Amino acid sequence: MIYVQPELPYDEAALEPVISAKTVHYHYGVHEKAYIDNLNSLIKDTRFEDMELEEIIRESSGPLFNNASQAWNHIFYFFSLNPDGGGEPSGDLRKAIDRDFGSFEKFKEDFVKAGTSLFGSGWVWLSADADGKLFITAESNAGTPLTHGLIPLLTFDVWEHAYYLDYQNRRAEALTKLWDLVDWDVVESRYF
Ligand code: MN
Repeated sequence: MIYVQPELPYDEAALEPVISAKTVHYHYGVHEKAYIDNLNSLIKDTRFEDMELEEIIRESSGPLFNNASQAWNHIFYFFSLNPDGGGEPSGDLRKAIDRDFGSFEKFKEDFVKAGTSLFGSGWVWLSADADGKLFITAESNAGTPLTHGLIPLLTFDVWEHAYYLDYQNRRAEALTKLWDLVDWDVVESRYF
């Protein structure tokens, strides 16, 4: 199977002023494309060739895991964002956020804090277990809750390439502004 980079459902400039067109261009158009190209060349003529991407991520390690997981994580991240996003979640997900974190405001605070305090490159995640309990986790490098048996719901990329062009070293500010772009309809659709 050859993995093809999905086209974003919005223009490169659509996420401004939170994320610049230049960042979307380099982050999705260059970095993410490279992960997909590497993934395709690493699986060619191997037992991974006909696996679904999630299966490759669960079964692999080293460079293949890194490229497969980064390919998946970036698609998940960029498709969670929407120029018309922001606001607050509702329904069962909102009830679970209030139950497990105290309030939506407290959840946002804890999520940004987890992403800001991760040393080096990685991702901060909201995910759920099979019972619907929610977790905030920070993962280094290409790490993903998929390998811990959790269901990913939302992620913010905390690699410097995600924010340095727009925010330089101000990671907390970059993460906080992302709330204006989160498409809660997409996130809720991942919660059972
Ligand atoms: Mn990235």
